Amino acid sequence: MEKNQKIGCTVTSCKYNDKPYQQCQLEQIIVTPIQGCDTKQPDESMCSSYKHENSKK
Ligand code: SF4
Repeated sequence: MEKNQKIGCTVTSCKYNDKPYQQCQLEQIIVTPIQGCDTKQPDESMCSSYKHENSKK
């Protein structure tokens, strides 16, 4: 990833989300397709790096 590339994200329940800036704090994330995706809508892609803010790991 380019050094100055940023990941904008509004998933505020994720522990990696920098909420005031709506940015992901990770240097990189993994995005995977949902199963059987044929809706042609953006929600066919899911951030697999998501962790709930209460997650211990
Ligand atoms: S890990 Fe995924 S869901 Fe969590 S802040 Fe980063 S991009 Fe958003």
